[in-house]
Amino acid sequence: MKYSNFMEVTFKALSINEGFARVCVASFCVQLNPSVDEITDIKTAVSEAVTNCVVHAYPNGNKGDIKLRCELEGGTITITVQDKGVGIKDIEKAREPFYTSKPSEERSGMGFTVMESFMDNVEVFSNSFGTTIKMSKKILNSSCEVVG
Ligand code: ATP
Ligand code: MG
Repeated sequence: MKYSNFMEVTFKALSINEGFARVCVASFCVQLNPSVDEITDIKTAVSEAVTNCVVHAYPNGNKGDIKLRCELEGGTITITVQDKGVGIKDIEKAREPFYTSKPSEERSGMGFTVMESFMDNVEVFSNSFGTTIKMSKKILNSSCEVVG
C-alpha cells in the first residue's frame, strides 16, 4: 500500500478526554500494522502529552481546547498535541527528567522523559499563547511504505 493519511480532532482539556485521545490515536495508526509494543508506546506518549495540557496549560480554571493531529507518511506516524494555554517559559528545563513545576501535586516530572523514550523524536514549541508537542515514530513492519 502506498499512501499518506492524516486525522485531526479537537476536544476540551479535561482529564476525561485523556483516554479518548489514546484510543483515537491507537485506532488511527492500526492501518500501519504496528506491533502491540509500538501501539503501547504511542498511547503512553500521547497520554503524557495530553495530560500535560490538562494539568498545566490552563491553570486558571477556564479549560481551553486541545488539538490532536496524526499524520502517516511512509510508515512514520507524527503526532501533534497543541494547546492555547499559558506556555512553557523554559523548555530546556521542563524537559529535564524529574523537573516539575507542581511537586506539591505529587507530579514526578517524567512526562517529557517518557515521551522521549517511547517515540523516536520529540519537539516542543511554546510561547505565551500555547504549546505544541510534535513527536514521531517509525513503525517497523509498516504496510504504508511510500508517501502517496
Ligand atoms: P508528570 O508528567 O510526571 O506527572 P509533570 O507533568 O510536571 O509531571 P513533565 O510532563 O515532564 O512533568 O512536564 C514538565 C513541566 O513542563 C511541567 O511541570 C510544566 O511546568 C511544564 N509543561 C509541560 N507541558 C505543559 C503545557 N502543555 N503547558 C504548560 N506547561 C507545561
Ligand atoms: Mg506531565
